[in-house]
Amino acid sequence: MNDKEDFEFDEPPGRSVPSPWSHISAEQWQDWRWQAANRLRTVEDFARILRLTPEEIAGLSSPERFHVDVTPYFASLMDPDDPHCPIRRQVIPTQLEMVPFDAEMADSLNEDAHSPIPGLVHRYPDRVLMLVTMQCASYCRFCTRSRIVGTTDHTPFNTELYSRQLAYIAAHSEIRDVLISGGDPLMMSERVLEHLLQQLHAIPHVEVVRIGSRTPVFLPQRITESFAAMLAKYHPLWMNIHFNHPQEITPEVEIALARLANAGIPLGSQTVLLAGINDCPNIMKALMHKLVKNRVRPYYLYQCDMVHGAGHFRTPVAKGLEIMESLRGHTSGFAIPTFVIDAPEGGGKVPILPNYLLSMSDTKVVVRNYEGFITAYTQPRHYEPHNPETCPYCQELAETGAQSGVSAVLSGRVREVAPAGWYREHARRGNAQ
Ligand SMILES: *Cc1c(COP(=O)(O)O)cnc(C)c1O
Repeated sequence: MNDKEDFEFDEPPGRSVPSPWSHISAEQWQDWRWQAANRLRTVEDFARILRLTPEEIAGLSSPERFHVDVTPYFASLMDPDDPHCPIRRQVIPTQLEMVPFDAEMADSLNEDAHSPIPGLVHRYPDRVLMLVTMQCASYCRFCTRSRIVGTTDHTPFNTELYSRQLAYIAAHSEIRDVLISGGDPLMMSERVLEHLLQQLHAIPHVEVVRIGSRTPVFLPQRITESFAAMLAKYHPLWMNIHFNHPQEITPEVEIALARLANAGIPLGSQTVLLAGINDCPNIMKALMHKLVKNRVRPYYLYQCDMVHGAGHFRTPVAKGLEIMESLRGHTSGFAIPTFVIDAPEGGGKVPILPNYLLSMSDTKVVVRNYEGFITAYTQPRHYEPHNPETCPYCQELAETGAQSGVSAVLSGRVREVAPAGWYREHARRGNAQ
């Protein structure tokens, strides 16, 4: 707005270097390369800054555990004496991580089956998920891609693979939205990331690119002014950032978010509902409020996936409904995410909502609000239905391939959607005994 604010914005955050790292200069502490190179991994690393519990020592020592790496910055937010600290629990394993549960799956979203090219998940007709790296700034214990993330051996991301992914996108003109994820795309070399953005930008039918990242939370120092300026060259570029707890939003993170928002990048958040971390309407509301204060629009709240290692983080679905009930009406509409189950077997994201629709007649729709107040909307007596025959948008859709699914049943384009084998099973006429 004015010179003074610009000046303050460029000041480094007031927090000094945290005490376990007091031998480090403030410049080094603010340097994302130093942060990335000095991540904590072993029992010895963590024992220097925390009073580890036997469960954490067992988790960190297990040869089967998922990859561990924590930036000194994120580790500095941990409570050294409280093993329930929400920051600590998200990134330090316990032996519970190794305990299988009955419904778990390795690839719980069946992404591999939807991948025409390694790392490219084409689940929805008009958009693709483009995985570009398996590295993250730190590793969430409940990672949905723990089968491949943190390793270098499973999916070899290199120039040749990126070219194949880009060629597929270029060859499929129905793809208008590309979601770059991983791993964490913001942990790639800036040169490689910019090259990918350039190439996607050059494909005429790609209308929007989004990046999914947790780097602004684990390593906010990475979001330098020049990095944000590089991203801003590739608009329309959106970004979804993974936030789970209000304590993650520190002064450093606020600066990173301001840099991204000032670069014109619309910011969204994705949150995973986690037992013992954010399974509380009040924690969740505090998180949503802190996000919108920082120009981040809550996007999705995820039911925890049925993935190996995440069993002890799962909550009943009802907890998510309770949280949604506590948000709608009680806070700004734009502070409310959509609660979804990412359905197993590649079913995709399914929204789950408390019931607000109580009943209906041909004239009335009875609804209840967040307070339990019940009233009716009176439906119009006369309604001139929309005419797809004279609507240019409907006509265009009819030419370029109409929508399928329940929407097609509603429009009358198809009469029914039937499960596989349904007709055979019901073709009983003539077979009567
Ligand atoms: C989440 C996801 C998307 C994007 O879904 P939106 O609802 O558009 O955000 C696309 N592809 C896959 C495979 C996904 O998991």
